[in-house]
Amino acid sequence: MSSTAAAVESDPDTAAKIIPGPILLLGAPGVGKGTQAKELVKLWGIPQISTGDLLRANVAQGTALGNAAKDIMQHGNLVPDSLVNEMVAVRLQQPDTSIGYILDGFPRTLPQASWLDDRLGTHPEVLPVVAVSLHVDYNQLLRRITGRRNCPVCQRIYNIYSNPPLKAGFCDVEGAALAQRSDDTEEVFAERIRAYDAQTAPVVEHYREQGRFAEVDGDGQIAAIAARIVAAVRQLRK
Ligand code: AMP
Repeated sequence: MSSTAAAVESDPDTAAKIIPGPILLLGAPGVGKGTQAKELVKLWGIPQISTGDLLRANVAQGTALGNAAKDIMQHGNLVPDSLVNEMVAVRLQQPDTSIGYILDGFPRTLPQASWLDDRLGTHPEVLPVVAVSLHVDYNQLLRRITGRRNCPVCQRIYNIYSNPPLKAGFCDVEGAALAQRSDDTEEVFAERIRAYDAQTAPVVEHYREQGRFAEVDGDGQIAAIAARIVAAVRQLRK
C-alpha cells in the first residue's frame, strides 16, 4: 500500500468510498498541485488534467497552440483564456473524465472560472465542482520551484532540497537524467507570482464565496497533505 493510501486508510471512512467528481486544485506556482494531483490519481483512478502539462506537450510537438503559447510561458505570463478554454474543452470530452477529474492549474483567471462554471452548469448529470486551495509561504514556494526537477520519461517529480533522487541528477526508477523546467528560474518565478496575485488569487476568492471550497495546508509530507485533501473533499461531498 502506498504511504498516501496508508495515511488515508487510517481514517475510518476511506478514500475509495468517495465519488470524487470534478476537483479543482488551486494555489500558487510551486505549492504542490502537480504532486498532489498525482497522489489523488493513484487513489481515485481519475485523470489529472494539468493545463501546464498540456501546454508544454503542445510546445514540444510544435502545434499552432504550442507556438502561440511558448514565449508567453517562458516569460511566466498567462496564455490567453480562449486558447486554454478550448484546450480544456477538448480534454473534458474524453470518456475517462466521467466519474471525475482533477483540474490542476485551471482556472487561473476569472473569465476561465466563469467559462468552467457555465460549462459545468450545462451538464447537470456531473457532480458540482469542489475547489481545494493549497497554501504554503513564499520562501517555501521559491525553494520548491527552483529545486524542482522532473524525469522526462516517467514524469516523477523530485526536489533537490526536500525530495532528492538517490543519485543526484538521475531518476530513481528510470535512471534518466532529470530535467528542469525553463520557467522554474527565480526571475520567471517572480513573474509567475505576479500573474498569480493579479489574476489567480481572485479565482480562489470566487470559489471561496461559492462554497464547496476548502483551504489546505500544503506544508509537510506528501502523503499527509494528500490525506488532508481527501478529508476536505469528503467533507465537501457530504
Ligand atoms: P504550470 O505548469 O501550471 O505552472 O503552468 C506553466 C505555465 O503554463 C504558466 O506559467 C502559464 O504560462 C501557462 N498556463 C498553465 N495553465 C494556464 C491557464 N489555466 N491559463 C493560462 N496560462 C496557463
